[in-house]
Amino acid sequence: MKNLFPIFKNNSGLIYLDNAATTQKPQRVIDGISDYYSRYNSNAKRGIYKLAEETSKIVEYTRLSVANFIGASKDDIVFTSGTTEGVNFIANAWGRKNIKEGDEIVTTILEHHSNFLPWQRLAQENRAIFKIAPVNSEIKLDYQALENLVTSKTKLIAITYQSNVTGEIIDLKRIKKIADKVGARLFVDAAQAIAHKKVDVKDIDCDFLVFSGHKLYGPTGIGILYINKNIVDDVEPYQVGGGMVFEVGEQHSQWLNSPHKFEAGTLPIAQIAGLNYAIDFLQGIDFKKYCDMEKELALELYVELEKNPKIKLISVRNSHIISFAHKDIHAHDLAAYLDQFNICVRAGNHCAQILHKFLDINSSLRISFGVYNTKEDLDIVIKKLKEI
Ligand code: PMP
Repeated sequence: MKNLFPIFKNNSGLIYLDNAATTQKPQRVIDGISDYYSRYNSNAKRGIYKLAEETSKIVEYTRLSVANFIGASKDDIVFTSGTTEGVNFIANAWGRKNIKEGDEIVTTILEHHSNFLPWQRLAQENRAIFKIAPVNSEIKLDYQALENLVTSKTKLIAITYQSNVTGEIIDLKRIKKIADKVGARLFVDAAQAIAHKKVDVKDIDCDFLVFSGHKLYGPTGIGILYINKNIVDDVEPYQVGGGMVFEVGEQHSQWLNSPHKFEAGTLPIAQIAGLNYAIDFLQGIDFKKYCDMEKELALELYVELEKNPKIKLISVRNSHIISFAHKDIHAHDLAAYLDQFNICVRAGNHCAQILHKFLDINSSLRISFGVYNTKEDLDIVIKKLKEI
């Protein structure tokens, strides 16, 4: 698998284990972006000449591929710049109008700052109540505590599909049932889950779901916002400008239908082209087999780390993510040591400060696996961790 990713050819001996932050790109994704600029470059949805029509086709074809990839319809898919923009988009374009004084937004302590701060700010601005569900003693979401937080005033549950620190996969069907009891909307942050399990929006039956292309072996600068048809009329355009209007008058204007009314301005077309190649890449491999392999490698690491009484593991056993803190060695020192051997891992709070504060650790080391990681990578990491 590594031979499909040029970064490994250009960095001999590289062991890349920061896949939860971003993934490496297959040659075909890089070539796809270059091919777009070399052969088709023009603006989408505007020109009527052949080249521009080709570009528009690339955009709409990618929209369809993404829709098929997550079980949505083409018109439910909005291009954004990434997960963070997707959350801010809905917090502003739906939340400002629909979250009223005294309403409640429920989220969890597991959230990445990107699925936390937009809701916290919305709650402050609209005088809503912001509630945070805790984890239990096993550092897993406390579903009962979350359910207890939900009342008839709860208008939204905003939750991750998979924690970027603990790796826990959330049972979204259970969350959906809790939301449905009070008619709350369900917003899902699938930034981590998207490259490590099959994501199906119909099955989850959520209102909104977001993810980023760059964690899916695709380019940076492109993300997806799924909006359920049932709620789309309640969502205002996040931005207004070129490309999203049906008719502009001096005092009033009319928008195109969704998804186009949500895509003001020139789209990141090259990134959209690249994302299509990334999805194509994932559909061309035995995705489940690779996801299982990542988990097997992670479990082996987990079992090794468990043997050391100075290590506090904060991740679940069965995920592509392993996070831990060492009693005596700072996570930054561990990461710097591994870096000497060309091993890339992440140290810090992983944009999850609330969780780290709750666990009373200032930083943790996160080792996260992707499709190209091997047993050999793992053996080297374990050896180097033992050395330090
Ligand atoms: N949510 C989760 C769970 C994440 O892991 C990340 C990225 N670390 C984000 C949101 C933010 O993604 P992006 O920076 O691509 O917008």
